[in-house]
Amino acid sequence: MTLEFPAGMVWLVGAGPGDPELLTRKAERLIRSASVIYHDALVGPNVLDLAAPGCRLVYVGKRSGRHSQDQKTIDALIVDAALAGERVVRLKGGDPSIFGRSAEELDACRAAGVPVAVCPGVTAASAAAASLCRSLTLRGLSRKLTFVTAHAKAGETLDLDWQLLADPDATLAVYMGKSEAEAISRNLIQAGLPADTPVAVIENASLPDERHVFTRLDLLSLATRAGLGSGPAILLIGRVMQGAMSSRSCSKASSRIESLP
Ligand code: SAH
Repeated sequence: MTLEFPAGMVWLVGAGPGDPELLTRKAERLIRSASVIYHDALVGPNVLDLAAPGCRLVYVGKRSGRHSQDQKTIDALIVDAALAGERVVRLKGGDPSIFGRSAEELDACRAAGVPVAVCPGVTAASAAAASLCRSLTLRGLSRKLTFVTAHAKAGETLDLDWQLLADPDATLAVYMGKSEAEAISRNLIQAGLPADTPVAVIENASLPDERHVFTRLDLLSLATRAGLGSGPAILLIGRVMQGAMSSRSCSKASSRIESLP
């Protein structure tokens, strides 16, 4: 299949959770064809090794608290590069359409008349479930899967519909939730989710330094503080995680801390 990537075009590319083996074949071809790549902090280092010699690699990770300003700068960078005739890859961790600010970048390209397209990627929740050899949904136990971000704007408290999220028949995948573990646990329990609901926290899913913590909702804050490092982590909350510890042999590289009472 030919790859539509003329000079002056932008591709928003999902880099997956970090392991280059989890890139799509299309993502790999786009990365190899780019003349410039703007990448986030969450793009695995070995993924960038695939770029062609001479391809410019530009880090555009955001500093916390300055997101909207930084996003506008990124929008302008990719548009200007395309207008200058570059083949632009905007490489984002996981899937660009999940908490990835892809809408702003698509809008900016369209507004400037720059051709733009999206290549999907494996999102963190899928990679984490795969590492645990667990299903995110389960017949009869979880017929709903919710992706939610626990990221609050600087200085603001988390404003989520806890009533809606506290569904015992659903699985909750919480992105950017590690630092909000205490609030997540307290609010979900207050909204009626049982305190002993199983939770798996997966840090650096798919990377060599992957770590897992298995706990229950009321101990979540304690467990994340005790058992994790500084990498990105996803929380998987719900009955589908019951007994997740027993499938540890599925994971090749993880140190574990069990913090059940
Ligand atoms: N677009 C990304 C999500 C970006 S938001 C995706 O589809 O995965 C960033 C959050 O994603 C992190 O704070 C963390 O919660 C999660 N995340 C990204 N990569 C991860 C990884 N390798 N392991 C665990 N969580 C990850």
